[in-house]
Amino acid sequence: MGYLDGSEFDLRVVTQVNEPVIKVEGLSYRYPNKTLALDGVSLEIAKGSRVALLGPNGAGKSTLFLHFNGILKPREGKVIFEGKEIKYGAKSLEELRAKVAIVLQNPDDQIFSATVEEDVAFGPINLGLSMDEVETRVTEALDQVGLLDQRSKPTQQLSFGQRKRVSLAGAIAMRPEVLIMDEPTAGLDPRMVHELLELADELNHKGLTVIMSTHDVECAYSWADEVKVLEKGKVVYSGSTPGFFSETVLVHRVGLTEPLLFEMNRSLSAVYGVPEAPHPRNIFELEQKFRRDGDRQFGRLFVMPLDGLSQERLTILRKEMPQVRFGLLGSKARKVGCANGLDTDVRFDALEKGLAEVSSGRDFVLIADDAWHEMVERRLEANREWYGTKLRLLPLS
Ligand code: ADP
Repeated sequence: MGYLDGSEFDLRVVTQVNEPVIKVEGLSYRYPNKTLALDGVSLEIAKGSRVALLGPNGAGKSTLFLHFNGILKPREGKVIFEGKEIKYGAKSLEELRAKVAIVLQNPDDQIFSATVEEDVAFGPINLGLSMDEVETRVTEALDQVGLLDQRSKPTQQLSFGQRKRVSLAGAIAMRPEVLIMDEPTAGLDPRMVHELLELADELNHKGLTVIMSTHDVECAYSWADEVKVLEKGKVVYSGSTPGFFSETVLVHRVGLTEPLLFEMNRSLSAVYGVPEAPHPRNIFELEQKFRRDGDRQFGRLFVMPLDGLSQERLTILRKEMPQVRFGLLGSKARKVGCANGLDTDVRFDALEKGLAEVSSGRDFVLIADDAWHEMVERRLEANREWYGTKLRLLPLS
C-alpha cells in the first residue's frame, strides 16, 4: 500500500479491535431536579483503547462517567461491564470500583484525607489489601505522578495541579482496568499536560483502557484512538478521530474547532493534490507525508537503557558521538535522569523530537526504561509503510 493512495491506516500504535470493556444500552438519566442529563445513550468502549469524550459543557459527559462505575444508577437502560450488567449492591459496586477508577474534574471533590499518602492509600486500604501491598501501591502511584517527595505533605498545602495528581495517584493505586479522567488537562500547565498524556500512554501500553473527557482538541486529536461526542445527553458521533473532525458542521455545532494539525493536513493535501487520509497525528507524521525527497537518508535512532547510566558514562558517549543529541523518554527516565543530573538535550516529548532529528538525517539517542523500548518499536512498526526498513531502533549500551 503506497503512502499517498488515500487509504487510512492507523498512523500510531495499531489498536487491536477488542471486545467492549464497557457497553451502555439505551441509558437515560434525570437528576432529582428533573434535568434530563442523558437521553438514550448507547455506546461501546473497546478494551485497551484510548477514548476521548467530547461535547459542550452540560452535554452529559460527567453524568455518563458516573454511570461507568455505578456512582449513578440509570433511570432507564443498562450499563454492562465486561459482558455483565452492573449490579448496584454494595459488594458488586465495590468490585466494580476496584476495576473502573474515576478521576473527577475537580480534585477537591475527591481528596478527603489530611496527607497525600493517606489519600492515595484510601482506596487500596478499602480493597482490604495488606499494609505491605498498600505501601507498595502508594509508593508506585506517587512515583508515577511525580509526587513521591511530597508524600507526607498536607493535601491542603498543595497547588491545584498537585491536587489533580494526587487524585490521579489515588486512581492508579487501585490498579484498575479502566481509567476514566474527567477533563484531566484543565488547569494544568503545558508541561504537566505532556506528563499526564505520557503517563496515560504508559498505562494504556500495559493494557489499561483510558477514557478522558476534554475540550482540548489538539490533545484529543493526537492522543485518542476513537472519539465519542455527546450533545444534549445524546451521542452524536462515535468513531475515528479524523472522521469526527472531518464533519465540520458537527464539530462547530458542538462548540469545537479543528485541530491545527488536521487543518494543516487539509490545506497541504489540497496544495499537493493528494487525499487527506491518512491523517498525520503529529509533526513528524505530517512531515513524512509531505516530504518529496523519498530516497533521503534517515539518521540513526538509538535507544539505551536507563539502568546504570551515570553522568560520567554520558559524558564519554557525548565525546564519542559529538553530533548526536540525547533525550529522556518517559516519566521514569525523566525522573531518574533529572535526579542524577544527566546532561541531556531533550527532557520532554523526546520521541517526537527524536523522530524529527532522525528524519532530518541526524542521529538521536533515546534514554528510556524497558517498557518504552517496546512502545517505540510498536510506534515505528505502525509507521513502517512510510520509510520502509530505513528507520530502525538500534540498541546502545
Ligand atoms: P458535562 O460533564 O458534559 O459538562 P454534566 O454531566 O455535568 O455535563 O451535566 C449534564 C446536565 O446535567 C447539565 O444540564 C447539568 O446542568 C445537569 N446536572 C449535572 N449535575 C447535576 C446535579 N447534581 N443536579 C442537577 N443537575 C445536574
